[in-house]
Amino acid sequence: MEKNIDWQKEDLNYIWHPCSQMKDYEKLPPIVIEKGEGINLYDVNGKCYKDVVSSWWCNLLGHCNPEISNALKKQADILEHVIFANFSHKGIIKLSMELAKILPKGLKKFNYSDNGSSSIEMAMKMSFQYFQQTGKPRKIKFMALTDGYHGETIGALSVGACDLYSKIYKPILMDVIHIKAPDCYHCPFNKNRDNCSCECAKFAQESFEKYADETCAILVEPLLQGSAGMRIYPSLYLKKLRQLCDKYDVHLIADEIATGFYRTGKMFACNHADISPDIMCLSKGLTGGYMPFAAVVTTDEIYNAFYDDYLKHKAFMHSHTYSGNPLGASCALAVLDIFKKGEIQEQLKETTPYFNNLIKENFLNLDNVGEVRSIGLINAIELVQDKKEKIHFNSKLRLGYQIYNKALKKGVLLRPLGDVIYFNPPLIIQKQDMDYAVKVARECTVETLKENGFM
Ligand SMILES: *Cc1c(COP(=O)(O)O)cnc(C)c1O
Repeated sequence: MEKNIDWQKEDLNYIWHPCSQMKDYEKLPPIVIEKGEGINLYDVNGKCYKDVVSSWWCNLLGHCNPEISNALKKQADILEHVIFANFSHKGIIKLSMELAKILPKGLKKFNYSDNGSSSIEMAMKMSFQYFQQTGKPRKIKFMALTDGYHGETIGALSVGACDLYSKIYKPILMDVIHIKAPDCYHCPFNKNRDNCSCECAKFAQESFEKYADETCAILVEPLLQGSAGMRIYPSLYLKKLRQLCDKYDVHLIADEIATGFYRTGKMFACNHADISPDIMCLSKGLTGGYMPFAAVVTTDEIYNAFYDDYLKHKAFMHSHTYSGNPLGASCALAVLDIFKKGEIQEQLKETTPYFNNLIKENFLNLDNVGEVRSIGLINAIELVQDKKEKIHFNSKLRLGYQIYNKALKKGVLLRPLGDVIYFNPPLIIQKQDMDYAVKVARECTVETLKENGFM
């Protein structure tokens, strides 16, 4: 029966894809994937795509990684799910013990959920409730950075600041204090991110002075504002935020959903700044991209503020049906086991500088490349119409989308953010795949610029 199914047609008959204008599928129908292996995805016709965006930044160690797959298969035969109130299971206990060993100091109490956005909601409620229960009930607001992204549920959208996702919902979003984020490419102080003193932290300082009394927490994507176009800022900025949070009694919530697990070259982005947040959110790479799973990790201090007689109503009543799911835990444990061997880290020491240089060599010499920036294996290429004046292209041209279409034809899955082309490949990517993906990205960029009359 399967033989007669027109997959693309039936997909469009039934499926409303996320984060897409469905009308675009008239020209570019959905690519129906049959199987994955390493950084390769194969569609139903056998065509191969190099997945250099880690399938929405979550695939960490390759598709169908044998070690993670085996762990998952084994777990499925032992225990697939169990209620997580009053009940527990070995996998989640082991996982928490292992994570506690590698997390920044002080983070040792684990709450689990099943996706990044829900972990953000959890972190926000936890911080708010903490201050309600510790004699500072006026602290009810959140701060966050402009151009930040924290997910798409209503609370997460409120602290995020990408108009593309949140603009229409403004009337139903919370009132959040947005602090002007570091924007090194357009630095208002004309400094360089490699040696500045983060003069831009003054914007945060001003907001803390004004609003700290009514603020329970600030949410940040440490070092890398992913959805904003893979914007990278210095670790010193994060250090300064930590100091402000200490001084003004505001929780620092680190959204490491995209940055955790060596994406930035270290286990966590917070490690670059040598700081510990009060609450950390993990998801995406946590299970290697296998299972919807997330963790919210916090300190004893926050945990203890909820610890009391049931009738005092201090408990954190937040729950998700799939909290602490055993299948997710088994994958996360397999991921940590792989890191324990150290081979991935060894490989990265060699492949990271190779990749970063390769991208610089291929793109910096183009007149329409404003900046090439990198952290870990993540590389972003910002296209501009005028390099000197840093003027961007008219977004209506959808140059990034044109490049995306061309690259797909050549078997490379890029997914530019506006006119920022980026690479965020699985950590296991090898040099020859880097060579191919970068070559295709450059060709497609040049062709697109030419077709639009810019070269
Ligand atoms: C993806 C992402 C989220 C949201 O996670 P979902 O699982 O998609 O809900 C939140 N914050 C950051 C930084 C992310 O990259």
